[in-house]
Amino acid sequence: MNKTSGMRAKGAYDTLKPMTISSWQSELKQTIRDPRTLVEYAGLDHSDTVLPSRATASFPVRVPAAFLDRIQHDNPDDPLLRQVLPVAAEDDETAGFSEDPLGESRHQPVPGLLTKYPGRVLLVATGVCAIHCRYCFRRHFPYQKNNAGRNDWRPALAAIRDDTSIREVILSGGDPLSLADDKLSALLQSLSAIPHIRRIRIHSRIPVVLPDRITETLVDALTEIHPQVVMVIHANHANEIGENAAAGLQRLHDAGLPLLNQSVLLRGVNDDSTALVNLSERLFDCHVLPYYLHMLDPVAGAAHFLVDDDTARKIMNEVRTRLPGYLVPRLVREEEDELSKTPLD
Ligand SMILES: *Cc1c(COP(=O)(O)O)cnc(C)c1O
Ligand code: SF4
Repeated sequence: MNKTSGMRAKGAYDTLKPMTISSWQSELKQTIRDPRTLVEYAGLDHSDTVLPSRATASFPVRVPAAFLDRIQHDNPDDPLLRQVLPVAAEDDETAGFSEDPLGESRHQPVPGLLTKYPGRVLLVATGVCAIHCRYCFRRHFPYQKNNAGRNDWRPALAAIRDDTSIREVILSGGDPLSLADDKLSALLQSLSAIPHIRRIRIHSRIPVVLPDRITETLVDALTEIHPQVVMVIHANHANEIGENAAAGLQRLHDAGLPLLNQSVLLRGVNDDSTALVNLSERLFDCHVLPYYLHMLDPVAGAAHFLVDDDTARKIMNEVRTRLPGYLVPRLVREEEDELSKTPLD
């Protein structure tokens, strides 16, 4: 049977379906999931490379092609590769590193809603990410249970509607931009209909790792609602931001969205002042201001990324001497029972 007759056999509805799947959605499906592809890319020898079996079973490899393209061939120390390649140490247990390092399970009034800081709520909009970052503090997050999108937005929306002290809703995840346009639009519209919501903040790594997602339809959805949408992207290294990402950020900037970046300070990735200076300058070229530089959250499996407090302060002191103040991110730590992030400097 040739391709055409195969399609016809499925009926008219199915032949139309592929046309409704946008290219970013097929890209999202075509991510690299086999760690051996990364091992080969890095020029490492399969027989010498031990991969963590437990860690990859619970938090599998996931790398979009656009991100893979930005990894240097045959460089096992590539700062982008390090963020996505699982290492044997992930299976080790390290004192002080746990599955829920921020005690998030204790701050959820309804599934998927995190209320920790006054005036702001964080909505876990989906469990899906375009990329799996090995340092992710939500790598063990029970998305099946605590995911407002999976079940139904209504309880989370009702809680936001009932609390008039909330000014800002932060869409997080997972990655909120992995939601299909119709779902995301419906969520934005529902939030927009709540009079006390002034700002909707979207935390997403997708503008960097899957830039084709920044379509005209998306930009329209983000700009046609009355609350101001703020986009916080997530890049850890200047090499992550290629021409496609720059073009997507330009579209968001042209649409009037404030653009901020947050990073995590990661050993072997960006733990020197030159890497951080280059990142800030690249971000500014793309109309993005640095917001936070986070200390690693002590999540089980990520201990090999830890940079200690003294080293972090020393690096930031150097960064401050090399950049204008507005390009220096705030070095912070997330602590369980505080009412804001804790500054380190
Ligand atoms: C980080 C965070 C926020 C937002 O904090 P800002 O300082 O406003 O960026 C809100 N809620 C939770 C649970 C957070 O972890
Ligand atoms: S994109 Fe964000 S939430 Fe998803 S794995 Fe990476 S750090 Fe975690």
